[in-house]
Amino acid sequence: MARLEDLRFADAHVHSNPVNGLGAAEIAKRFKRKGGWFIALVGLSPWHYNIEEKNYNGYVKAIQLHIRECRTAATQGLQVACFAGFHPADVDKLVSAGKHPEEVFYLGLRVVEYVGKLCRDGIIDGIGEVGRQHYRTSPDRFAIAISIMLRALEIARDNDCLVHLHLENAGPVTVLTLDEVVERIGIDRGKVFLHHAKPNIGLEAVKRGYQVTIPGHKETLRYAFNVKELAENMLIESDYIDDPRRPCVSSCPWDVVDRELELVKEGVVDEDTLYKINIDNVVKAYGVEYKV
Ligand SMILES: [Zn+2]
Ligand SMILES: [Zn+2]
Repeated sequence: MARLEDLRFADAHVHSNPVNGLGAAEIAKRFKRKGGWFIALVGLSPWHYNIEEKNYNGYVKAIQLHIRECRTAATQGLQVACFAGFHPADVDKLVSAGKHPEEVFYLGLRVVEYVGKLCRDGIIDGIGEVGRQHYRTSPDRFAIAISIMLRALEIARDNDCLVHLHLENAGPVTVLTLDEVVERIGIDRGKVFLHHAKPNIGLEAVKRGYQVTIPGHKETLRYAFNVKELAENMLIESDYIDDPRRPCVSSCPWDVVDRELELVKEGVVDEDTLYKINIDNVVKAYGVEYKV
């Protein structure tokens, strides 16, 4: 039986921005103070770091900056899994900025190939975010995002990387359509994460052996904790974007810890389940060692 004071917390998907936000050092300090032990740190697109080159070189700079952020968080004493990718929204952003769709397509493929190499060299742990837009866009942009996701899954399969997918959260069909391609590509489902998953999609996904990170909003957690099979297998994320103009969107990592503790006090979840979610499931999903 885990005791409340022994609990340590993980954030399974979080961003940091050392140029315009708090940056990894401050995020790690604040999270550690609340009992945090692990974060999966996911890179942002170049323009978030004021890198204005909308080309391969801009992405390489952004990814290198992000790798330094991962190292900084580790220096603060957190266990860190480091991810970089090509967000589906980048497709829209780049096409809207005037790039030809075919240029964006080749750029996305090159970026995920670069991340795959970093993964093979042990510099990065996974590719992410890649995936499908969760909003209405044009068919060509959607097709580009899907193609980049498929290539990322193949590269992950071949280089032993994890993958964080950003998907549309449309219900069971989100998982069914993903599962069709994952089956064909032949990547281990346990290496594929559905990030920002709603509980109903999360349940479908864990039943098939995927990893899911559930957003740490209080009502979402309350719902998820009540679905036993999901609660036993899920991870929790803040999806913090470290943008001072939009503080704590979607959550701040330290606030998520408070919500988890409140839900223990309210009797919605017990200490053993939280221990499993924050420690056992993280160790298994990310292949990290539990160290505090
Ligand atoms: Zn996302
Ligand atoms: Zn994210």
